[in-house]
Amino acid sequence: MNYNKKTVRDVDVAGKKVLLRCDFNVPQDKETGAITSDKRIVAALPTIQYLLDNGAAVIACSHLGKPAATFESYAKKQAEKGKEATEEGWKKSLAKLSLAPVAARLSELLGKPVIMASDVVGPDAQAKAAALQPGQILLLENTRFEKGETKNDPELAKAMASMADLYVSDAFGAVHRAHASTAGVADYLPAVSGFLIQKELEVLGGAISNPKRPLVAILGGSKVSSKIGVINNLLEIADTIIIGGGMAYTFSAAQGGKVGKSLLEADWMDYSREMIEKAAAKGVKLLLPVDTVCADAFAPDAHSQVVKAGEIPDGWQGLDIGPETVKLYCDAVADAGTVIWNGPMGVFEFPAFAKGTEAVAEALSKTHAITIIGGGDSAAAVEQLGYADKMTHISTGGGASLEFLEGKELPGVACLLDR
Ligand code: ADP
Ligand code: MG
Repeated sequence: MNYNKKTVRDVDVAGKKVLLRCDFNVPQDKETGAITSDKRIVAALPTIQYLLDNGAAVIACSHLGKPAATFESYAKKQAEKGKEATEEGWKKSLAKLSLAPVAARLSELLGKPVIMASDVVGPDAQAKAAALQPGQILLLENTRFEKGETKNDPELAKAMASMADLYVSDAFGAVHRAHASTAGVADYLPAVSGFLIQKELEVLGGAISNPKRPLVAILGGSKVSSKIGVINNLLEIADTIIIGGGMAYTFSAAQGGKVGKSLLEADWMDYSREMIEKAAAKGVKLLLPVDTVCADAFAPDAHSQVVKAGEIPDGWQGLDIGPETVKLYCDAVADAGTVIWNGPMGVFEFPAFAKGTEAVAEALSKTHAITIIGGGDSAAAVEQLGYADKMTHISTGGGASLEFLEGKELPGVACLLDR
């Protein structure tokens, strides 16, 4: 697929102040706040380096986590947990989601100082942006500290835009959201993409518009309701669809199976039946588990047993695909032309329930197929297992890549200038 949006190469960036939206939403250690993977920062480097090398002054920004932007929203969240809210507690919760550790890591990676602003569009950001020189980089504070961010408030978008001459988006992980910093700003500045968005969309677009066949899509994980909808569109493009992880039990229940305490999205049972019928009508193979590893608790040391799919005893829950299913799925992957994988096959964080995910990752590492991994946990599993460099592409955007595969418009891409 031809990428049809302008990129930083299509515009003159020299002497410009560039507002660069990155996806610095990095995973952090809960206790220490240390960044546990800098993959997303590394992924942003080519565009940052290009802009700095070509005489731009870069005003980088990103969200991090889900801070409560107002005391009221913080108090509400605390109340839900049965806790009292104090001003001090709120400030602490914000401090934990400061981008300062990202600035430090980015500075190490770039080998130059990264100036950190203490706000997003406040006096500190404005002053530092105004003083910024070509070749220098400033990082604004967490965009979600502003309550207008997730509401795509035009006033916030305008204030962000007012600091720059050009908007560059490279936050692939956030382009499926129409927020002030991912889409709104494009109303006030010429807007182009960076190299990461371009690469992601070229790879994903190629995989669905003109795939090397057979095209196999593997879906799993626990975010069932946000992922299951993609199947309808995948049935139009894939040759085989493989279902594992938590999603499998909704299909099993829809066919009258017993799923015990497994993850179940009852609202999606009718849809699951429709998908099974649609797959049959279209001649698409829809593979569902034939057996499952179930456990008497959600715990690493739970008792476990392998049972046939749909025969999970009361009180037990399916935490992995079973050995027969592993064989079936690995065979389906072996002769694929393209494989798109989103979502682990089981609770791979517990070694006793990691076999399905490990086997599928290994099978992918061995095929000659184009292999595309989406989803934070799936990518982490592949990395932990040491297969990362055996894959064709590991996407930095789980939600964005799924919405793209669903055929939905990505607001953070749609707002950019066409070529
Ligand atoms: P990704 O981040 O790759 O998009 P998700 O976030 O949807 O994937 O899901 C990842 C999580 O799914 C993992 O933490 C894993 O433990 C969990 N998971 C996988 N299979 C099951 C299951 N059968 N029951 C409960 N959780 C599961
Ligand atoms: Mg996840």
